[in-house]
Amino acid sequence: MHCPFCGADDTKVIDSRLVAEGDQIRRRRECLSCRERFTTYEIAELVMPRVIKQNGNREPFDENKLRAGFQRALEKRPVSVEDIEATINQIKHALRATGEREVGSRVLGELVMDHLKQLDQVAYVRFASVYRSFQDIAEFRDAIERLEAEPKKERNDAP
Ligand SMILES: [Zn+2]
Repeated sequence: MHCPFCGADDTKVIDSRLVAEGDQIRRRRECLSCRERFTTYEIAELVMPRVIKQNGNREPFDENKLRAGFQRALEKRPVSVEDIEATINQIKHALRATGEREVGSRVLGELVMDHLKQLDQVAYVRFASVYRSFQDIAEFRDAIERLEAEPKKERNDAP
């Protein structure tokens, strides 16, 4: 990389070490022209793929929306916050592991449903049927919000 002092092209790494518990590499470099030394840090780029909605729009992956979705689906269910957080991390990991820059909202939706199934069968069954009939996760979210807003009815209005 270029020397930040004189702009020369050639710099040499004189020391590399792992820092931040191995999550970063710290390199000491020396400019071959002006002999100034400087430090660079290398970290893994953890970019989430963008989500392609059913209508073709792209939106950034939104962890908070995902969390809100899980919290809503699992309300009053015996599932801990830690388990929800672990699940969100698993989903993020799975999305990154695709190596894709964009993923379809269906892919994300199915991932969410798979993980919900592992977390809580009741919540899964409650929401799977609803989700399957929706085009994407945004619609699903809206549906959950509507379900939430409805007063508790025990469906005794059926014949
Ligand atoms: Zn230099």
